[in-house]
Amino acid sequence: MSIHKTEAIIINKFDFRETSIIANFYTRDFGKISGLLKGIRQEPKKFASTLEPFSLNEIIFYRKRNSTLHLVSQCDIKDNFSGIRQDMLKAGAGGIVTELIHAVMPQEDINEEIFNLVLEVLKELEVYHDAAKITTMFKIKLLALSGFKPHFDSCVCCDAKIMGQSRFSILMGGLLCEQCSSKDFKARSIFRGTVASILHIERSPFRNALTLGMNPQIKRELDFVLNSFLNFHLGKKLKSESVVDALKAFSLAAK
Ligand SMILES: [Zn+2]
Repeated sequence: MSIHKTEAIIINKFDFRETSIIANFYTRDFGKISGLLKGIRQEPKKFASTLEPFSLNEIIFYRKRNSTLHLVSQCDIKDNFSGIRQDMLKAGAGGIVTELIHAVMPQEDINEEIFNLVLEVLKELEVYHDAAKITTMFKIKLLALSGFKPHFDSCVCCDAKIMGQSRFSILMGGLLCEQCSSKDFKARSIFRGTVASILHIERSPFRNALTLGMNPQIKRELDFVLNSFLNFHLGKKLKSESVVDALKAFSLAAK
């Protein structure tokens, strides 16, 4: 057993037996890890953090060699991102961020670039007005950095450069050129502006990408393409995504 200290974002937590909690953390130095916090429900002050989802903490843990469940001995809060928690749509977006990390990242797969992306996204969510735009940008960036991304640079089938009209195939995970469009009859045509926006966001620093203007038509298509791709590959719709959809419908109805 070895002892380690690292920065950790809380993904989720659940009760374990009568007194303890198991939490999933996304850490800077070890990727996604699971940790047991013994006795925290019996003595809530034993740890200097209440382990709120998407809060940033510093943890000390004993790493077990023959298990993926490690023993967390200390958990100190560094940033609770209270600016996110005061707004339901922002809190929902925070939920999407952690749920996606949990779904996409393999256990104990270190990726500091993705860790920094998550931190930047949470910091921006606190101050930026449009939570939905941040969520869309995060999905594009995460897919690109995790290597899980749809193929948008050329035809996914023959690798030809796409000049004219293209179609997006969820099944094949990318764009099809006109010649290959018969390979998937369910592929749907996609605006050039949508493809250009995705490529621009993939290649730009997060904050610069946020300044990109998008017309509502492209924004709708972008969300449709990203969510269809994610739902297909994850085999489910994210729970937090359904919560945000319900919140949006509720706030529209209240207007
Ligand atoms: Zn092709």
